[in-house]
Amino acid sequence: MEYPDRFDVIVIGGGHAGTEAALASARMGCRTLLLTHNIETLGQMSCNPAIGGIGKSHLVKEIDALGGAMGLATDLGGIQFRVLNARKGPAVRATRAQADRVRYKAAIRTMLENQANLTLFQQAAGDLIVDGDTVRGVVTETGIRFLAETVVLCTGTFLGGVIHIGLDTSRGGRAGDPASNGLADRLRALPFRVDRLKTGTPPRLDAKSVDLASLEEQPGDTPTPVMSYLGNREMHPRQVSCHIAHTNERTHEIIHANLDRSPMYSGVIEGVGPRYCPSIEDKVHRFADKASHQVFVEPEGLDTHELYPNGISTSLPFDVQLEVVRSIKGFENAHITRPGYAIEYDFFDPRDLKHSLETKFIHNLFFAGQINGTTGYEEAGAQGLLAGLNAARRARGQDAWSPRRDEAYLGVLVDDLITLGTKEPYRMFTSRAEYRLLLREDNADMRLTELGRELGLVDDARWSAFATKRDAVERESARLKASWVQPGSAAAARVEAKTGAPLPREYRLMDLLKRPELAYADLADLPGIEGAPVEDEAVADQVQIQAKYQGYIDRQQNEIDKLKRHEATPLPTDLDYQRVEGLSNEIRQKLEAARPETLAHASRISGVTPAAVSILLIHLKKRR
Ligand code: FAD
Repeated sequence: MEYPDRFDVIVIGGGHAGTEAALASARMGCRTLLLTHNIETLGQMSCNPAIGGIGKSHLVKEIDALGGAMGLATDLGGIQFRVLNARKGPAVRATRAQADRVRYKAAIRTMLENQANLTLFQQAAGDLIVDGDTVRGVVTETGIRFLAETVVLCTGTFLGGVIHIGLDTSRGGRAGDPASNGLADRLRALPFRVDRLKTGTPPRLDAKSVDLASLEEQPGDTPTPVMSYLGNREMHPRQVSCHIAHTNERTHEIIHANLDRSPMYSGVIEGVGPRYCPSIEDKVHRFADKASHQVFVEPEGLDTHELYPNGISTSLPFDVQLEVVRSIKGFENAHITRPGYAIEYDFFDPRDLKHSLETKFIHNLFFAGQINGTTGYEEAGAQGLLAGLNAARRARGQDAWSPRRDEAYLGVLVDDLITLGTKEPYRMFTSRAEYRLLLREDNADMRLTELGRELGLVDDARWSAFATKRDAVERESARLKASWVQPGSAAAARVEAKTGAPLPREYRLMDLLKRPELAYADLADLPGIEGAPVEDEAVADQVQIQAKYQGYIDRQQNEIDKLKRHEATPLPTDLDYQRVEGLSNEIRQKLEAARPETLAHASRISGVTPAAVSILLIHLKKRR
């Protein structure tokens, strides 16, 4: 049958990409249908129950700044929050939250169910309705035809999904869910380049059988960090600790002895796995000299005893998994509640997409998430938001929008994918961005919320909260620039006590704040200074970061301009890339293999980021 209502946008798949896509399109006022296998699994975390971390929190904050759901759902579901790289500069600081799987999912579902213009429908999409080179709608596996102006495909690891546990294989989209084979066959018949990737997950453990007391405890940070710009600590559920365990030589012996039963090492799996989330058998094989690897023991939620042992993702047979787990201190009597497994799935070469995430071959069809070769909830969510936005804009006859590399990590992600493609699951890192001093997690709202408002993604409540913060930052920066500390004054005495050095002349408060040894709090209530300091931590933070890093930011901008002028610089044929500090191993390997002749040539190698080219330029200067 043909469904009687027509939609502007249909989103297929209610994972992290699909939910952000559907919400974005509906927020913009477009009639949106979210068609997904199972309403109970909306927003499900297929792997570890954690959001954020290095590079990834930047994406979450950008999604949030553009009105998306992931940040708020994390604040509502997060049970342990930490700021990683807290002692390093703000560009690489990253918020990470352990999430209660059930609470996170519930928060996403509540947002979806309460979103105006959004209709949910549970069923598998079996086919696309394609007319010439334009998509017109979707047919479900039971034959219901939904028509729409645009379609966004967000089917994650489900297309042609094959699950591996040891040498046993079965079809599935993830454990407990069916694969999408009809749709996969249909897409393979269209002119897209398709390949296979794989990813894996560890066995889950019953906490009642684990000796947590024998493991190192890792509590969350105090005060508890917050993920969303609209979030606050009062939204967080009860906070709990994670723990750290370690593999040992015995663990590694068991793995070595059973590699022939691993689908990866016996050649059963053809897809390439995530370099930065390797399986334990991969780590033991590749880093044979390492006697131990860390295992982060993460609670799956507040109302369950299940634990997620982060670091021992595996597709070894179950009996080996059990032996491996029980060889680890603290896990001697562990009971596995769910075996670990690997999954192989179809992904589409993202070079067949435009910056809008619309496909080049089929008009009005957009792809977002893991099907574009990425890995991770945050990468999926960010693409989903962009694809949902552009599907809505197309439905309304508006031009596409995509952020530039200097505006957002989302811009870096999409530009990397569509210009370089990927041979392995792509995840975000701060090192992928050449403008990382500009693209901090603390200023995603300052970079994007105004744009989001213009695009129709930001509702009144978020806009008003943002405008209040932005105005407060401007007012406070102006006050600090207009306030002077005179030598010999009571205020100067307080500053001198803090720095241990006399103030030789008068200083603006703003210039004092630029000094590394002075923080905003030190200058907040100096005697004789007009105006009250701000109480809002986020405003104070922003004023402080802008003051302290403006010089570096300006310098980075100059370096980037200079880089553009140095593209013809030759790269010596004997250059030892292993000795170029700051390059990732992945990029070193690619440069060694390609031996580019010039910086411009290096920059065109798939996976060699502009940030890496900048590092090469600095290295060449040092060599001279
Ligand atoms: P998904 O979250 O997979 O969501 C896809 C959605 O589409 C699901 O709701 C599904 O039901 C629906 N769907 C699929 N086909 C159809 C259809 N035909 N009709 C209707 N609905 C459909 N990421 C990491 O960062 N690190 C890891 O270590 C890691 N390990 C992983 C291990 C496993 C076993 C799996 C399965 C995933 C792992 N991931 C990991 C990846 C992470 O889960 C994904 O990156 C993320 O979930 C992708 O989001 P998505 O929205 O693209 O797809």
